[in-house]
Amino acid sequence: MPKKITHFTHPKHPLVQTLIDRRFKCDGCKYPGSGLRYYCDIFDFVLHDRCATCPPALHIFAHPLHPLTQVARTDPADPRVCDLCREPVRRTSYRCVACGFDLHPLCAMLPPTVEAELHSGHALSLVPAIPQPCSACGEVCLVWRYRCIPCKVNLHPQCLFGWQVGMKKTTHRG
Ligand SMILES: [Zn+2]
Ligand SMILES: [Zn+2]
Ligand SMILES: [Zn+2]
Ligand SMILES: [Zn+2]
Ligand SMILES: [Zn+2]
Ligand SMILES: [Zn+2]
Repeated sequence: MPKKITHFTHPKHPLVQTLIDRRFKCDGCKYPGSGLRYYCDIFDFVLHDRCATCPPALHIFAHPLHPLTQVARTDPADPRVCDLCREPVRRTSYRCVACGFDLHPLCAMLPPTVEAELHSGHALSLVPAIPQPCSACGEVCLVWRYRCIPCKVNLHPQCLFGWQVGMKKTTHRG
């Protein structure tokens, strides 16, 4: 039996875990995805596997002071930006109301440390720092990046994990 859940962004019908190769746009965070998803075929409603299964509230190292609650943005006149990747919050985010702090659900699921083929030998830690170029793509890492401190290597989360994290690579504008 495929896994089924109900989610606060689509309470009417259960969502069924489905594996399809085709790309999709997540109706939760409104960022693209591919592969594993949760799907309602009545309304053609789809969520990233991780957007569907991440907890309603969490405590995360990136915001140690307060717990964050998963919410859906309803006011289009209230633009928000993810405090980790600096891309817009399109619909759902983990939010600290007290601080006005937001994270994309997929950014909130990023591991604090990783071992990666792009920089083998040392573990990389997700840390905030001043803007510096990414060692993989050469574009600037704005705030948070995976960093190897002894080697001074910086890597965008999206360069390490690709579209899996739902983020667009920062492009030069203007
Ligand atoms: Zn439905
Ligand atoms: Zn999503
Ligand atoms: Zn983000
Ligand atoms: Zn806070
Ligand atoms: Zn990069
Ligand atoms: Zn290193």
